Amino acid sequence: MEHELQSLETEAREELSQLNGNSQLEEFRIRFLGRKGRFSTIMRQLGTVSSEDRPRLGQLANSVKKKVEKLFEEKSASLKRDSGTLDQDNISPDLTLPGRCPVKGKLHPVTQVMNEACQIFEKLGFSVAEGPDVETDHYNFEALNIPAHHPARDMHDTFYVSDSILLRTHTSPMQARIMEAQSPPLRVIAPGKVYRCDSDITHTAMFHQVEGFLVDKDISFADLKGILTVFTCEMFEQELPLRFRPSFFPFTEPSAEVDIACVMCNGVGCRICKNTGWLEILGSGMIDPEVFKMVGYDPEVYSGFAFGLGIERIAMLKYGIDDIRLFYENDQRFLSQF
Ligand SMILES: [Zn+2]
Repeated sequence: MEHELQSLETEAREELSQLNGNSQLEEFRIRFLGRKGRFSTIMRQLGTVSSEDRPRLGQLANSVKKKVEKLFEEKSASLKRDSGTLDQDNISPDLTLPGRCPVKGKLHPVTQVMNEACQIFEKLGFSVAEGPDVETDHYNFEALNIPAHHPARDMHDTFYVSDSILLRTHTSPMQARIMEAQSPPLRVIAPGKVYRCDSDITHTAMFHQVEGFLVDKDISFADLKGILTVFTCEMFEQELPLRFRPSFFPFTEPSAEVDIACVMCNGVGCRICKNTGWLEILGSGMIDPEVFKMVGYDPEVYSGFAFGLGIERIAMLKYGIDDIRLFYENDQRFLSQF
């Protein structure tokens, strides 16, 4: 019986290594491991051997059976693996399916409008200047005719870093910095981020401004109106009536808020323009002679204008967005529309 068990193992091993396909495997299982298979026959014969030999032979029979079972499992797994690979190989790619394009990124809508604004002014002969976000009290206020304790400082909800250092509340400090360093004629815009502690549906603590100014001989309010008319026509891609309303800024005299006819209702009156037919888009004015004196320009010789516009405000009007905070929530569904 011992000999029989050993030859059974060798035989099973050989057969398993040669068989091919699931039907042959099943046939093997029935013949060797099945209820009427060769192992069952040997187990039944164990009852006829002497009681001395029985434990040893029983043990041997069990270990051989386990070995064959293990070989059978391995063969079964390898056949399954092979058929899986075969299936994959047999699938031919469908060349008529459309390809998968990589998703293209886009510029943020605020960046797009900012770039567009800069391009319009560059076409009008303005150069672009950038300055620091962290500014001194001097350039942010003093040099723009806003001394300490001036009530106009209350209009700016300022983030102070220290007593004399702050986050700029407008991009106008560049006006003072450039006039200090260069002589007229000047045509400059200063785009950038500005900061104020203020937040609601039309205000965020950080927003973008484009400051622009022009200094030369014989510059009048008509020049300001001309430049702004060209800008609004280009930006909103239509000719829009412009309206100047008297206002106050410490660094311009006279000063004016500029309105355009409502882009939503064409001046008829709607929710966006609060039924006035007009939308405020920027602040402007003729540069105050005091500002010129501080940088050493002769106000009797030179005149100029300055204006500052909020990029988010323009973007909201251009695209019909009613909540400024949407720009900064980073929701792909919103941002991908531009
Ligand atoms: Zn309207």
